[in-house]
Order: sequence, then structure tokens, then C-alpha cells
Amino acid sequence: MNLLITNIKSLLQVDEGTQVPVRGSDMAKLPAIDDAFLLIRGSEIEDFGRMAELDQQRRSSAAREIDASGKFVLPAFCDSHTHLVYGASREIEYVDKIRGLSYEEIARRGGGILNSARRLREMPESELLDAALARLNLISSFGTGAVEIKSGYGLDLNSELKMLRVIRRLKEQSPLSIKATFLGAHAIPEEYRDNPDGYVNLLTEEMLPAVADQGLAEYVDVFCDRGFFTVEQTDRILERAVGLGMIPKIHANELARSGGVQVGVKHGALSVDHLEHMEQEEIDLLLASQTMPTLLPTAALFLGLTPPPARRMLDAGLPIALASDYNPGSSPTGNMQLVIALASVMLRMTPEEAINAATLNGAYAMGLADKLGSISRKKRANILITNKIPSYQYLPYTLGENNIETVIIGGQIQ
Ligand SMILES: [Zn+2]
Repeated sequence: MNLLITNIKSLLQVDEGTQVPVRGSDMAKLPAIDDAFLLIRGSEIEDFGRMAELDQQRRSSAAREIDASGKFVLPAFCDSHTHLVYGASREIEYVDKIRGLSYEEIARRGGGILNSARRLREMPESELLDAALARLNLISSFGTGAVEIKSGYGLDLNSELKMLRVIRRLKEQSPLSIKATFLGAHAIPEEYRDNPDGYVNLLTEEMLPAVADQGLAEYVDVFCDRGFFTVEQTDRILERAVGLGMIPKIHANELARSGGVQVGVKHGALSVDHLEHMEQEEIDLLLASQTMPTLLPTAALFLGLTPPPARRMLDAGLPIALASDYNPGSSPTGNMQLVIALASVMLRMTPEEAINAATLNGAYAMGLADKLGSISRKKRANILITNKIPSYQYLPYTLGENNIETVIIGGQIQ
């Protein structure tokens, strides 16, 4: 079906050959066309331009027309870092946290990721799938059109494969564009508490080959941070995973300056994520790489961490992607409008920078920049129409409000 959106107040993130990723000072630019139309044919963007350029032929080719007077149209958000397949919420732990326990203290008590692992191991695959589908519908209603989902709450071969099979079924059942990441190295499971290298052996000798053999994950991830996996262990895991054809995406420098950026860049990571602890050495390394620095402000807020130095990174010329880190422990939301708002208030990113980071650079961090993240002919029609709002700057200004009226995924109104 052809769908024509007319009288758009402003069509944002228009791409007629934008350099991807969008870096440094270029992130302050958000190309736009005022008083615009957008024509969708099937699942793709066919054409766009000023209303004055819309001829009768294109108008009559549309089976349906949406009048977007007073509304903004932009590409759907690309959330490149989530853990949205999980067994149970962890609000009781959250209350412990309010009472003063740190994330690491909760982890040492067998809470945190290990709590999620216990719940996930018990849960039937079909229940995991239903819960994850509901979460996908929820984030889609806030404007997410593409999402990366990690395993990492199984922490043994069968449970990790179970999680990855759920993600494969989500790919089949959801209209969203989905990428799968194997995060067996999310935490040391209880049964290997006194033998972490034994778990790394299990990862490299059994789990990674099984995941690769069944084609269940595009990416591999390691939580390379204080109290989780060391640089040496991360190096071994990535070496093996890259040999099996997986591309790394690393949890790095959230709790300490972990060496995670260095080991990620060494193995050609597509992204390094979190980055609350950054010095010039890490910035210089990233500048000389193709690796996307990805920031997760909802997690920094929820854990009370010092926010990552986004301004310093942008001023140095780095690109930035924004993602939600949606998970039951440290970021119980996948609302990308809130992520954009917090990027402005916590990271001092401008609305233009935050929208670039949540669309085109997010798509880059999922290997989808050629298909998603901007208004470009032949790209997949993952499109948002806002409510009637005064300006696009209103998006990061309204903390936690849903300003999206209509979500279109692959040309289909949701
Ligand atoms: Zn994460």
C-alpha cells in the first residue's frame, strides 16, 4: 500500500548523502524540510520534498493520505542496546537500592544479574516470548522502530540458547528490525564463583561455538568492568567470537576505567557502551577507530553514576549513539523519548545531537545505517509522526511524555 503524509510542519533528519556515523560538530545539524510531504511505497520510503513540489501523479498514487498539519515527522528511533528478554522485574532490589545498597553490593549478595539468571532459567520459553513481545509493543509505542537485544540472563549453555531462540522468534513475530547479541559473559554464574576462568573456558569452548553453529547471534558482548570480566578474559572471549564470525559490542567503563574500550577497539568492536569513566586515552583511541561510543543515560540516572563526558567527546570530534539499556536491574525503561530528554538534561547534548544519536548513529551501532535512521529514498519506512507540538526542541524538553501520535514500521501503521 502507498501512504502519503502531507502538510508536515517539518520533516526531520532528511538525508541526501549524510556521512555516517555523524561525528562531532556535525551532530549539531539536523537537516529538515519545512512544509513537507513523505511518500511511502510498500515498506520503503519512495520520495519526499516540499508540499509545493508534490504533483498530482504522486498524490493519486497513494491509497491513503495522512494530514500532518502542525506535526513533525522523523525516522523511528534505533535502540542499539537492550536486555529486554528477561524473566522478572526487580523492584524489590530497587527498594534495597533506595535504602542505600550499591549495585556491586547487591551483586555480591547474589542479587542483580544472578537474580535475573535464576528467574530466567526457571521460565518456559513461551512465557519469556510473550513478556518480551509485550515490551516490544510498549517501546514501539514510544517510537522505537529497531532494537538490539542481548542474551546474558541464562549464563549456562541451555539457558543462553533459550534466550537467543526467544530473540529469533521475536524477529519472526515482530515488525521491528531486531539484532541479536550473545552476552554469555554478562556475569560469572554462581556455580563458577570460585573458578571464573572455568566459565570463560565454557564460553570459548562450548557456548560460543554452539551459538555460532545455530546462527543465533550477529554480535557478541562482554561486561568488561570491575567485579565482572577482566581485560584478559574479555580478550580471550572476543578472540574466539571474532574467529567464529561474530562482531563485538562491549559493556565498558561503567563502574571503573576498565580497559574495555581498549580491548573492544583492538577486536574491531562495532560499539563500546556505557563509558561513564573516560580519559583522553580512550577518546583518542575511539577517534582513530570505526567503533561507536554509545551512552545510556537512563542507566546512569537509575544507578546514580556520574554521567559520561558527552560534551568532551563531541568537542573532540567523536560520534555518539544513545540507547536505553532496557533491563530489569539498571534501566527499567525502553522509552527512547526519555533517553533523549535525559541526554539533554544530564549530558548537555542539544536536541539535534540527541536526535542524531538516537536515529542514524543508533542505526550504525546495529549495522543498519544503510537501511534505517534517516529519511532517505529506498530506506525502510520506519517513521514517527508527533502530536501537534510547537517545535522539535519540545521532544527533549517534556521529560517522560509521549509526544508520538503515529508509529509506522515497514510502511505499516502500528
Ligand atoms: Zn547493558
